[in-house]
Amino acid sequence: MIVIAKELVKQLLKKPFTNLFPAKYAPKSIKQFLRDAKEGKVKLNPPVVVPPNFRGKIEYDEKKCIRCKLCTRVCPAKALEYVEKENIIKYHLFRCAFCGQCVDVCPTGALKLTKEFLLAGYKKD
Ligand code: SF4
Ligand code: SF4
Repeated sequence: MIVIAKELVKQLLKKPFTNLFPAKYAPKSIKQFLRDAKEGKVKLNPPVVVPPNFRGKIEYDEKKCIRCKLCTRVCPAKALEYVEKENIIKYHLFRCAFCGQCVDVCPTGALKLTKEFLLAGYKKD
């Protein structure tokens, strides 16, 4: 019990290791913040390194797409839709499970997994 209490107090007095997020915690002046960080007045933790095989947001290259629709057939989350009117594949990010099956099946490399993981937004599409 005493050990836990000691650890709790220690943790409470420590500064957080992570960079503060979201943007409401951002300093008023980024330039000033970076200057202070350079001079060691404030501590800036480096961003988390994204691993090499990370599966982030899908990128669609309309020019490479031959409209075979294979990606729409393999997608388990129905996150890809062929829009006939615009003759494009529409990606519904909010449905995507980041499995990468569409990327594997695409014969032309029109779909790519990116390392983008900050995906919050105000609109569903
Ligand atoms: S990564 Fe998976 S869930 Fe996301 S669009 Fe491709 S097949 Fe669908
Ligand atoms: S699998 Fe690739 S080429 Fe085929 S429709 Fe999908 S994105 Fe286009």
